[in-house]
Amino acid sequence: MKTLEIKDLHVAVKDEDTQKMKEILTGVNLTIHTGEVHAIMGPNGTGKSTLSETIMGNPRYHVTQGDILLNGKSLLKQAVDVRARAGLFLAMQYPAEIKGITNMEFLRAAINARRPEGAPIPIKDFLTQLDSALAILNMTSDMAERYLNEGFSGGERKRNEILQLLMIKPTFAILDELDSGLDIDALQVVSKGVNHVMGPDFGTLMITHYKRILKYIKPDQVHVMMGGRIVKTGDASLADHLEDEGYSGLRDELGIHV
Ligand code: ADP
Ligand code: MG
Ligand code: MG
Repeated sequence: MKTLEIKDLHVAVKDEDTQKMKEILTGVNLTIHTGEVHAIMGPNGTGKSTLSETIMGNPRYHVTQGDILLNGKSLLKQAVDVRARAGLFLAMQYPAEIKGITNMEFLRAAINARRPEGAPIPIKDFLTQLDSALAILNMTSDMAERYLNEGFSGGERKRNEILQLLMIKPTFAILDELDSGLDIDALQVVSKGVNHVMGPDFGTLMITHYKRILKYIKPDQVHVMMGGRIVKTGDASLADHLEDEGYSGLRDELGIHV
């Protein structure tokens, strides 16, 4: 079993307008083991994407206190690529376009970066895996030859993130609003992809506003984030409770004023 541990995490970013540092995360505690599905729900602007970018190592996010540990080892000094090789994966809320590199080239490079030097994946194996991943996601093979995310619709980008997930097979995946902008068919397809990688050697942190994706990907724990920290944790029924009461209901219940 592997463990991703977030301990009393405080994160600040530089405000573009004032050029001053502002604290976004105010003490996040969260432990995820392989074999588990965790969901984080929370209102807009509460720091969910900040948490995911910080776990992955985006240098814009400054850890001012606390730690992020993978199997007991701090990741804070590790760059994004080192964290990726260690088994972390982030499906971004807004996947970026990368000009001049095809999807296929990107996937091969990502897979090979995680393999021992001098032992790239044989092309035949790569193509076999790619075909089966494309089939799971109802994607056509021309998607693999297109430039990464260039001209992709919102839904195609999300689907493509899950293609990466299927091919890269990380230990821990953070899925930031995978469900945003997806119609119900696309939601079912990406959920199928996530469920395909699920197993005892995989842990995931799903970030979402809405409980609808949790119908397809069943969380073991649901956390609610407000004001830059986790204010409540429960089982899957917490998502139902939230949908009924709204975040304002929970604020009142907990006496939070953020
Ligand atoms: P969520 O994902 O929960 O909607 P975010 O993490 O995107 O929230 O944002 C939390 C807060 O941090 C917001 O006030 C946002 O404006 C601010 N923020 C996030 N990233 C940056 C950044 N790179 N630079 C400046 N402010 C940021
Ligand atoms: Mg948001
Ligand atoms: Mg966000």
